[in-house]
Amino acid sequence: MIALTSLHLLLTYQCNYECDHCFVWGSPLQDGVMTMAQVRDIYRQGQELGTVTSIYLEGGEPFLYYPIMVWAAREAAERGFQVGVLSNNYWATTVEDAMEWLRPFAGIVHDLSISTDLFHSDAVMDDHARNALAAAEQLGIPVGTLICDVPEGVAGYPAQEKGAPVESGAIMFKGRAAVKLVDGVARRPWSAFDACPYETLDDPGRVHVDPLGYLHLCQGINMGNLFERPLAELVAAYDPQAHPVVGPLLRGGPAALVAAYDLPHGDAYVDACHLCYTARLALRERFPQVLGPDQMYGDFREELR
Ligand code: SF4
Repeated sequence: MIALTSLHLLLTYQCNYECDHCFVWGSPLQDGVMTMAQVRDIYRQGQELGTVTSIYLEGGEPFLYYPIMVWAAREAAERGFQVGVLSNNYWATTVEDAMEWLRPFAGIVHDLSISTDLFHSDAVMDDHARNALAAAEQLGIPVGTLICDVPEGVAGYPAQEKGAPVESGAIMFKGRAAVKLVDGVARRPWSAFDACPYETLDDPGRVHVDPLGYLHLCQGINMGNLFERPLAELVAAYDPQAHPVVGPLLRGGPAALVAAYDLPHGDAYVDACHLCYTARLALRERFPQVLGPDQMYGDFREELR
């Protein structure tokens, strides 16, 4: 049986931004917010499982629902979980103001991740990120940055300074990135993507829980819904090889997923996630239970877009 050690709660799919690289299609127009009762239920289920040691509060942008988020962090800490938070720093207008936003988390949050890069702003490290970092450090909150590089070949972004004193990483082309950022980026033949490079799908240590209750092994690939069936049962029943999407991915990556269902495909893709996400779009009607919800595939409030 898999040993889940971390639950990452998407407190909301909503975000004040619509970054091109966002895995979860964060947007002001998104649907889905977790209630306090649902958070309590998830924590209780995590405790009953017995292996979960940490809770992360993410989104979307969790600070959009600030009082609930502060309560959720306190509640998690009181239940003995380590607590992490991920934010885009929109609220950090000055160091002084950022300290007011972050003060409730001092002594509770073990890991604050500050998302900052050219997808969020016109500078890799903008003033909001610096303010959030400075405030967290003054409050003694462990803090780090999460910085994604703009892929080579993508137009419309300022040039990223080479050798800047920041640690950054490559994006994965899933979610909105698979639609918005692939043009102009170098591709490789589809059959080359014969493994998932990022997720341990056969024994995931952490899963994301969305506001609808879905447990995501990777964003948009789920192992069930803990508002419909207890987490302990979902974990006990999880058979990676028998999962209609995970099974092929384990056997031969996104290329095997395409081959298993004889899906139409292009000659070349930007990365494994690009092929995987594209294949999953083609499979959603066939496997709606495990490839959803609509929010993870950018299929929300179309009439408003
Ligand atoms: S290859 Fe597929 S399952 Fe693996 S990280 Fe990329 S999108 Fe997720």
